[in-house]
Amino acid sequence: MPVPILPRPTTDVPLVVHGGTLVLPDRLVADGIVVCRGGRIAALGKRAAVPAGARQIDARGGYVTPGFVDLHVHGGGGADFMDATPGAVRRVIATHARHGTTTLFPTTTTGSPERIGAMIAACREVRESWTPLQGARIAGVHVYGPYFAADKVGCHPPSGRRDPSPAEYRDWFRDGIVRIATCAAELTGAIPFYRVAARHGCLVTCGHSNATWREMEEAFAAGVRHVDHFWCAMSSVASLRARHGTPMQAGMEQFVLATPGMSTEVIADGAHLARELLAFALTMLGPRRLCLVTDSSRALDMPPGRYRFGHEADGSWFESDGFVGRSGGALASSVVGMDHCVRTMVAATGADLPTIVRLATLTPAERAGIGTETGSLETGKQADLLVLSRRLAVRRTIIGGVEHPV
Ligand SMILES: [Zn+2]
Ligand SMILES: [Zn+2]
Repeated sequence: MPVPILPRPTTDVPLVVHGGTLVLPDRLVADGIVVCRGGRIAALGKRAAVPAGARQIDARGGYVTPGFVDLHVHGGGGADFMDATPGAVRRVIATHARHGTTTLFPTTTTGSPERIGAMIAACREVRESWTPLQGARIAGVHVYGPYFAADKVGCHPPSGRRDPSPAEYRDWFRDGIVRIATCAAELTGAIPFYRVAARHGCLVTCGHSNATWREMEEAFAAGVRHVDHFWCAMSSVASLRARHGTPMQAGMEQFVLATPGMSTEVIADGAHLARELLAFALTMLGPRRLCLVTDSSRALDMPPGRYRFGHEADGSWFESDGFVGRSGGALASSVVGMDHCVRTMVAATGADLPTIVRLATLTPAERAGIGTETGSLETGKQADLLVLSRRLAVRRTIIGGVEHPV
């Protein structure tokens, strides 16, 4: 299936960013310049001709990076995509743009068929009339819940969990709005679901699952290429011992580490995973198989307090302390933006900036099939870029050559 065209911004005013260190996939370019024209990157490097009438932005010695791409995100700014109104969707995309995300995949929670249908419809509506001033671009929906394993539902409303049914999911894939599709591999009907999602060009992923190695092999053969939030709500040797007894078995963790065709993602908020696990993931998987995701909830940029995960009327309650969401003794999603995750990953791994930036830009874009359109500073790609301070705080967010207020 051809790569879908992302919703296209329109701007006639050329934009030039200068005076910063460009973060390219393989190197840094000190005191570089990026020229954007017609919403795309027209030229970049040590020097480039500045078009007449161009708007100029001085990066003031900071970094110029590609805009972040988030594969797994539920909400922010008080709204959850599952609220399913255009206003709520726009509030989330505006919030994430302030944290440097220029492309995202609104992610469903568990919920009734009506709730999930309404969420997809709201995202479709916003995508069709989208402008960069509204916030991050919607590349497509990530259907995440409802097809979770009953023993791995986590903080999602359990009543909204079910096994996949073609009568329900056939409609989701009809017009190409769904670009990422998650299902737990051990569910009845998982394999046909994976096949349909793969046929529609989705990044097919297994999450909220207690799958065995054997089930992952079958899932991989049916098109699965990714596992959601590594080490969270997924199988381990210990959880499989509880499910199947002895001999102890390998599960999702070993399958991902051992299979070059598989990628995964980490919630690098500093609360879900300790630094050594973040560093271990990068060491074992390398920068082409590991993505950063926020998995953030509506509590991002909101004061500490009690919030609903999922729809505002019947989502599960959790507490945000401003650092992470908690539900009882368990974690309930993050409350940070991608800029925070990038800073956490730099501190945890000590890896160079091109490597860490790739985890939040080109790698997720490639895995989701939009790597030719966005995800790196490259001539011809969409002009999605950020100006970051030397401490990696977001100073400017530019989406399709248009600046979004930070
Ligand atoms: Zn999850
Ligand atoms: Zn999630």
